[in-house]
Amino acid sequence: MRKWTSEIGDEDVGRDVTVYGWIHEVRDLGGLIFLILRDREGFIQVTLPRKKVPPDTFDVAKKVKRESVVKVVGIVKREPKAPQGYEITPRVIEVLNESVVPLPLEVTEKVPAELDTRLDHRFMDLRKPRIQAIFRIRHNILQSVRNFLSEHGFIEVNTPKIVSTATEGGTELFPISYFEKEAFLNQSPQLYKQILMASGFDRVFEIAPIFRAEEHNTTRHLNEAISIDIEMSFTDHHGVMKILEGLIVRVYEDVFERCEKFLKWMDVELEIPSLPFERIRYDEAVEIAEKRGEEVPWGEDLTTPALKVLAEEIGDIHYFIVDWPTECKPFYAMPYKENPKVCRSFDLMKGALELASGTQRIHRYNELVESMRAKGLNPDGFEFYLEAFRYGMPPHSGWGLGLERLLMSMLNLKNIREATLFPRDRHRLTP
Ligand code: ATP
Ligand code: MG
Repeated sequence: MRKWTSEIGDEDVGRDVTVYGWIHEVRDLGGLIFLILRDREGFIQVTLPRKKVPPDTFDVAKKVKRESVVKVVGIVKREPKAPQGYEITPRVIEVLNESVVPLPLEVTEKVPAELDTRLDHRFMDLRKPRIQAIFRIRHNILQSVRNFLSEHGFIEVNTPKIVSTATEGGTELFPISYFEKEAFLNQSPQLYKQILMASGFDRVFEIAPIFRAEEHNTTRHLNEAISIDIEMSFTDHHGVMKILEGLIVRVYEDVFERCEKFLKWMDVELEIPSLPFERIRYDEAVEIAEKRGEEVPWGEDLTTPALKVLAEEIGDIHYFIVDWPTECKPFYAMPYKENPKVCRSFDLMKGALELASGTQRIHRYNELVESMRAKGLNPDGFEFYLEAFRYGMPPHSGWGLGLERLLMSMLNLKNIREATLFPRDRHRLTP
């Protein structure tokens, strides 16, 4: 019977098991060979005393190259010195596919490698348990997000990624050719998820790629990222902030509970944030930054150095920066009636890193068109969107949360490229 290495336990002692995996390490002491077999779930020691295993099997172990794929069949024994407390004395070792030497990358991590080299040979890099753990945790995060949002009445949708207009009229768009027309890769599901509010779905979410043609190479930007987006009717920005902080805490709790092994592989100690998250206003944030010598002219985005000092003052915790200047935010952000220079908006931060942005949206047609014009956008290109606002659009709010940023902040990854299998950046289009 096939088992994963992690499934081998006391009940297998003295019995035959079959394991499949890669040869992680070979220690050849002449008359005694130790192989460490690695599979998705961990390691198992395969021990071959020359006198106790069939001669053919011993020969295979003598010749086997690291990272070859093998099948091992043998008897399980307790061995306190082995990685999981057990070892297998094999009857059969079958090499299913031999690896070439030398390896492009050390899976054992005995030799450190640059990130670029690692990404060039990503398939191999991902064999490292510490790296694979990131994506096992990612899977749990996504499950947790889907469960939480479904429980709160949200319906999962998919909106087009090939679009005819820029979401926010920005320049950060990848043009593509679409038969005889020009089209773009969508930078956000914003317009479509709003349209779905007019359709009466009430609460939707989408987990999908966003494409941004940002020229600059930073440690927190990708040109293709995964965004977790929600849109919710009959609520204001406070309502969707509540959903967002609740979701973050739930994700941390679920990962804490379900991913103990992977967190250990990564040497990460998870601290579950407590509710509610702190909320500070944009002008308070500016004041804190300016006290530390970081000038932010009113109406401008908080600069990276300003966010750094802010994080030093507040700590490496989750908090919201709320009530942004209207000019900092996209055309669909709803200004406060009593002070239209400020809008019903928020960013979710962890320390100095932005995780999410959200707003209450303008739901009245005339105000929306006016806001577009004020931002220098031509409403003519947005007819398919604007039409939805003329026949009964409910008040609504929403946000977009970067999945890679969430992973990065949760697992203390220094570079966002670590949080995606095959990153797309200014210079990288393969693998
Ligand atoms: P930033 O100011 O950090 O460039 P943004 O304000 O342009 O981000 P939004 O348009 O608010 O980003 O997108 C919502 C969320 O999507 C962001 O908070 C972030 O988590 C994620 N995100 C946006 N752009 C990128 C990107 N290029 N790479 C990775 N994640 C991104
Ligand atoms: Mg933002």
